[in-house]
Amino acid sequence: MLINVPLNIHDQLINDTSFKEKFKTKVIDKVKSNYKNFEKSTGKSDGAFNIVKYISVDDIEEILLGSIFNNTNIPFIDNYRKTVTFAEVDFYERVSEYKKTICTPCKDEFYLKKYYEAYNNEFLGKILANSYKNDPGKKISEEILTEKGFKNLQAKVKKHLEKFNKDVGEIFGFYNEYISNGGLRAQILHSTNITVCPYCNRQYTTPFYIEGEEKIQADLEHFYPKSKYPLFALSIMNFIPSCLFCNRNLKANKIFDNLYFIKDTMNHTKVFTDGFNDYNQLMGFSNSKISIDIDSLGGDDILKKIDLYYYKKTYYLDEIYASHSELISDLKKKKSIYNKDYMKEFSKNMKTDLHDMDLDNFIFGYNGSEEELLNRPLSKLVQDLILNT
Ligand SMILES: [Zn+2]
Repeated sequence: MLINVPLNIHDQLINDTSFKEKFKTKVIDKVKSNYKNFEKSTGKSDGAFNIVKYISVDDIEEILLGSIFNNTNIPFIDNYRKTVTFAEVDFYERVSEYKKTICTPCKDEFYLKKYYEAYNNEFLGKILANSYKNDPGKKISEEILTEKGFKNLQAKVKKHLEKFNKDVGEIFGFYNEYISNGGLRAQILHSTNITVCPYCNRQYTTPFYIEGEEKIQADLEHFYPKSKYPLFALSIMNFIPSCLFCNRNLKANKIFDNLYFIKDTMNHTKVFTDGFNDYNQLMGFSNSKISIDIDSLGGDDILKKIDLYYYKKTYYLDEIYASHSELISDLKKKKSIYNKDYMKEFSKNMKTDLHDMDLDNFIFGYNGSEEELLNRPLSKLVQDLILNT
């Protein structure tokens, strides 16, 4: 995401008693009943990869309402997320793309090893041990280092997950029935207080009303696609508001495992730069171009950087933001006219102590706050190029 979505956007909803009651009847109880039916039909002893071996019926509420990231109560949540991600991301292709522009280091094995280390876990280990039981001499740590071996490993895990996820789907795979048609979708969407798509920071996600009936102009997207991670198909934390274009045309089933985790200084790290450098250039509407260095958001983490690079390409951020250079040019002109001296004088004349944020809002239409990033289109662009310079 271009804008960091705080991990607590759903807290308001989760702490709302009336919502919880509704969610219990419409979702939790039904999933529990699915679980029990599934358990009855397969029996606990049906193979090592039976979902009922990994989670109990008492874990269901936590899976649906708790954290799907680093959940300390149920380690399987994390293991499942890592295992599916390991198998489903075309990591080798992403690395090849990434290396075309940034090639340090250049050796594939460096990336492949990092990836395996980051996603290796108990559940994945069990699947691999099972896949290689007829070939116990095979060293996974060696096979992982080549393109062929890596893809071979991924294919084996994917094959295993197919059956496993089909079973998981029988318990959790009811988004349309329970959430969309169950009347919970709009409530979840609005309770996040995000009104501008965090992926593009351009389109509103607010509803409008016709004869009292709400029409929603946004998608409640599954951060982890429900077709690939059916365990999270109904998990509140997996729901992120997104504009239709970003969700349906661009993201679809793609996985960006690291984007949700980018916190800390993300919103303060400058990603936009421009070529406007002097007054004449500004007045002449020169061809100065907005460019985006999203790589810097990843810090030292190479896997994050690769996700970010792939994200920027997927969402056509360079191409889409090229159309906003006129706005930046206009705001830069304002900035050169309403300079610090002018504003000092202005404050004096107003006989009031105006805060910098108020002044920014007054002149540019943006105040530079964290909240604004989630609620005003193009706020990241303006904050980076106009306010924080
Ligand atoms: Zn969008």
